[in-house]
Amino acid sequence: MPIAPCAIRITVFICRMTYDTIIIGGGIIGCSTAFYLSRAGQKVLLLEQDKIATGTTGNSFAWANASVKTTDRAYHNLNAAGVKGYNALQSEFGNETLGINPTGALEVVSKSDADGYKAMQAQARALTTFGYANRWISNAELRQLEPEMTFPDDAEALLSPDDLLINAPHFTRFMVDQMIAKGGTLLENCAATELLATDEGDVTGLITTQGSFHADNIILATGQDTATTLATLTGYDGFATRFPLNKVPGLILTTPPLPTTPPLRHMYYSAPKNELHILPEFNGGLKIASDDIDGMIIDNQTPEHLRKTGQLLLERAYTVLPQLTGTINIDECKLGIGVRPYPTDGKTIIGPMPDAKGLHIIATHSGITLAPVLGQLMAEAITTGTYPETLAPFALTRFSGFA
Ligand SMILES: Cc1cc2nc3c(=O)[nH]c(=O)nc-3n(C[C@H](O)[C@H](O)[C@H](O)COP(=O)(O)OP(=O)(O)OC[C@H]3O[C@@H](n4cnc5c(N)ncnc54)[C@H](O)[C@@H]3O)c2cc1C
Repeated sequence: MPIAPCAIRITVFICRMTYDTIIIGGGIIGCSTAFYLSRAGQKVLLLEQDKIATGTTGNSFAWANASVKTTDRAYHNLNAAGVKGYNALQSEFGNETLGINPTGALEVVSKSDADGYKAMQAQARALTTFGYANRWISNAELRQLEPEMTFPDDAEALLSPDDLLINAPHFTRFMVDQMIAKGGTLLENCAATELLATDEGDVTGLITTQGSFHADNIILATGQDTATTLATLTGYDGFATRFPLNKVPGLILTTPPLPTTPPLRHMYYSAPKNELHILPEFNGGLKIASDDIDGMIIDNQTPEHLRKTGQLLLERAYTVLPQLTGTINIDECKLGIGVRPYPTDGKTIIGPMPDAKGLHIIATHSGITLAPVLGQLMAEAITTGTYPETLAPFALTRFSGFA
């Protein structure tokens, strides 16, 4: 439901410092937006209640892709623009500086899995129609591309060469460093606690645990905490339950560095049976995840259960990398739980908060892929005062109660 003006607490307060824009949330979304806004000449304040990149961004698989987003054209295009946004940054700063490994992705399926095979061929056709680079890979070529992996004799693959692996915490810190170099301010261990607004609902500033600050534009980039933060900031508890965002936890296992070069060259994804994601991690080890194994940690996140679940991930990885069987000690692996901020219709939320002029929201899954494009487009919206047309399908107003 829209914020009625009366739903925002009206507070008379002498603001300490004035900024053009305040961003709440130091994950990849908030930091990328801070980068593009400061680049556009804005005086930016970025607030993070903890340390930057310690939220979902620090526990993400971090595969930047548009290759698995084919059901909705606008959402595909947004993700493809995210990948292109990285490409522009790569040309400017280089992969190492940004923390990018341009491996491309291999999505592997067995012909005997008739439904899965058909679905992946349809996915390849859709990618071609959408203009996203892809190539169908035979069993023989698959073995050449990944000589150290083991595949069934009837396995084939879809190669998406433009997909990227991102060292998300590193990239996020780089974005912030650039913002600071442009005169922006980062406050860590600083939580936003109350929104300041006129009685017409125009945002004027923010109260935080480190004082109050003035700005005519405030961006909420608080990921999985969006609903509760909105409720806290506005004093309207209804947002905590009505904001259209689900929280979906996932387990990411990161092995210690392997004694030899990681035995895979691409991001590997097998679907849909024995679903498994593996990528060569930036530390010289492997990062392993699986959507169906994620389901096992929803209700139980005790260390013992996580250890058992992590062991399952390792065993699944050994089916394609049997030479590693028994060589990785689960107790030396990092078992990170990340919580996906998942809008209820699966697509991004980016746009103005209805009836609260100057308050803007970004909440999305696939935020690693989307950070460059969402940051850039939000900066354009703020600096021009008009949201780009491409963002129209992603406005919060598409949800009933927020129109
Ligand atoms: C297991 C898993 C796998 C994933 N895999 C991929 C993938 O392969 N590719 C991809 O593109 N995406 C992936 N994602 C999704 C992606 O990681 C997220 O969409 C992205 O990290 C969200 O970033 P964010 O900046 O919105 O949120 P966060 O990183 O959570 O940042 C939000 C920040 O806001 C801060 N905050 C909250 N409230 C306040 C407040 N009141 N005041 C100040 N600060 C506050 C929090 O402390 C937090 O640091 C995955 C996610 C998970 C969990």
